[in-house]
Amino acid sequence: MSLTVVGSIAFDSVSTPFGERERMLGGSAVHFALSASFFTDVHVVGPVGDDFGEEHFELLSSRGVDVADIERVAGGRTFSWRGHYEADLNVAHTDDTQLGVFADFEPKLSEASTRADVLFLGNIQPELQRRVRAQCATARLAALDSMNLWIETTRDSLLAAVGEVDCVMLNDAEVRMLTKEPNLARAARALMEMGPRIVVAKRGEYGAVLFTANGFFALPGLLLEDVRDPTGAGDSFAGGFLGYLDMQGTEHPSEAALRRAVAYGTVLASFNVEEFGTERVVRLTESEIGERYEQLRAMTHFEQPG
Ligand code: AMP
Repeated sequence: MSLTVVGSIAFDSVSTPFGERERMLGGSAVHFALSASFFTDVHVVGPVGDDFGEEHFELLSSRGVDVADIERVAGGRTFSWRGHYEADLNVAHTDDTQLGVFADFEPKLSEASTRADVLFLGNIQPELQRRVRAQCATARLAALDSMNLWIETTRDSLLAAVGEVDCVMLNDAEVRMLTKEPNLARAARALMEMGPRIVVAKRGEYGAVLFTANGFFALPGLLLEDVRDPTGAGDSFAGGFLGYLDMQGTEHPSEAALRRAVAYGTVLASFNVEEFGTERVVRLTESEIGERYEQLRAMTHFEQPG
């Protein structure tokens, strides 16, 4: 069992009502990999620049993440993103995106990365996602995330990428935007008609909805008293979801396994948002994950009519 992820490896500058940070380690692939590392072996694919230090490689390696396919481009700059959040943390604004070394990146995956059972195409240019998808032809489960920028600027490529995966994980607004269908249930069905058999619509602090041919399953988010920075919540969710499914080791996960995967995604995302960037997840322990999973189960359980 192993999982390969391609996505942004970034320096994030973030401002929320609870504080600010400059150039923290972030990016879709980083948040995803740290979260998935609690469940399975993770290979990260992507470029970084000269400004990416040994300490950043070490942070990933300390969680057992394989960094052999992180390519350091001499003279290049690491992808960077600057954004801020409103008092309602569900509302994010991008202030600046610098693709840096991602602009000319040609992925060449190692043998170990191409052999992964599960593949996550994290948020990055869709053509790049497709080139990695083509190299991981034997993955049992391939999933994709994206964002409004790529829906607006590279829609056709993104639709082609959607047709090449088993699972799409997007925010609910992005599911509607990509399909041009305002109703979420219909929009999810429209995505499934393009090929994927699983659609996960993420809904920020309100949780996530899983759509399959059997219907839907919705879980609320954990109601936390301390939320400081939602950056990377979606990727942490995806890491918990796909990491757990890879650990289960089945090609066609059962409905029950998919539901547990949604719960693990919800749990990992809940830790991610408690502090800035990767601060909380790097200190996380398996027992904390288990405790919060039980809290989520208790919170969502109710009895038959008495
Ligand atoms: P999310 O899970 O949606 O909060 O993802 C946040 C992460 O996405 C941040 O760590 C950013 O570095 C990264 N990000 C923001 N914009 C882009 C973009 N256009 N392409 C790839 N990654 C991005």
